[in-house]
Amino acid sequence: MKQLPLLFAFLYMGCVSSQKSIDFGPEVYAATITAEDLKAHLYIYAGDDFMGREAGTEGEIIAINYLKTEYESIGIEGGMPDGAYFMPMTLNSYRENRTLEASNVLAFIEGSQIPNEILVITAHLDHIGVEDDGQINNGADDDGSGTVAILEIAEAFQQAVKDGKGPKRSVLFMHVTAEEKGLLGSKYYTDNPVYPLEDTVANLNIDMIGRIDELHENNSNYMYLIGSDILSQDLHDVSAAMNNKYINLDLDYRYNDPTTKVFERGRYIENRYYYRSDHYNFAKNNVPVIFYFNGTHADYHAPTDTVEKIEYELLEKRTRLIFHTAWEIANREERLRLKE
Ligand SMILES: [Zn+2]
Repeated sequence: MKQLPLLFAFLYMGCVSSQKSIDFGPEVYAATITAEDLKAHLYIYAGDDFMGREAGTEGEIIAINYLKTEYESIGIEGGMPDGAYFMPMTLNSYRENRTLEASNVLAFIEGSQIPNEILVITAHLDHIGVEDDGQINNGADDDGSGTVAILEIAEAFQQAVKDGKGPKRSVLFMHVTAEEKGLLGSKYYTDNPVYPLEDTVANLNIDMIGRIDELHENNSNYMYLIGSDILSQDLHDVSAAMNNKYINLDLDYRYNDPTTKVFERGRYIENRYYYRSDHYNFAKNNVPVIFYFNGTHADYHAPTDTVEKIEYELLEKRTRLIFHTAWEIANREERLRLKE
């Protein structure tokens, strides 16, 4: 490093000593989650080189190696018992009548005070691959958006660890595979949990948070939260309080009722969203969940779900809310209580 002139050296020391007296809160770490970083990750992760990330294909292998490399560079270790990142599995894809080899990706920050209690943050790493005519389903929103959100949340937590402010409880960042084939990677984890499900305090699942649906064309400052009060009122209350304190999104709970109708692929159907992403495998094991979601859109499960259509400032805001909620769950005195 270049030597500083004396005056600058004194100024620098002054800054360091005054910084020590400030007690940083989570806003400092939330501020490290930026639209620019999310965009940079997503242009790679939902690029053509990843070939639509179908579970059991070369595209998935590229995706899991990208995630592993990112965690290594952030300095967060793997979440498997031996410190590995990959949780390999052989899955039966009943829809395709075949077996396939796939992997979840686990990264883990051990809690500083209550390490045996675990918060799990999930997003699915896979998507639906390449069409017969060669068009690639890049899945920028589904679920590139949730994937890069977790990377940024993990980086924010790790910065806190470096400052001696790591979470009291442990946090598992888990990218699950084969969601698109029937929630298979999350089912494999909850059937074979690395950390006991009875010690798992909550699951925050992120699946599609980078877009705006038709219902919100005139107010994009929203996100759907599904399931937050079903198993734990505490979880719902913490989530709402963090939003009021830091973010001020309009939290839309209409899909807490699984019978609320949605227009999807040309027809009206009951939404059933509570059962349709990876959080459900935790919920059915009595782990409280929140499913974060922007609703479907015309590009849902189509080759047109691409990176230039993502609202990066909105993705930043939504990701920061999930970070604040995760921070509070991991650091609050009391474990979230289940409903009686
Ligand atoms: Zn999805």
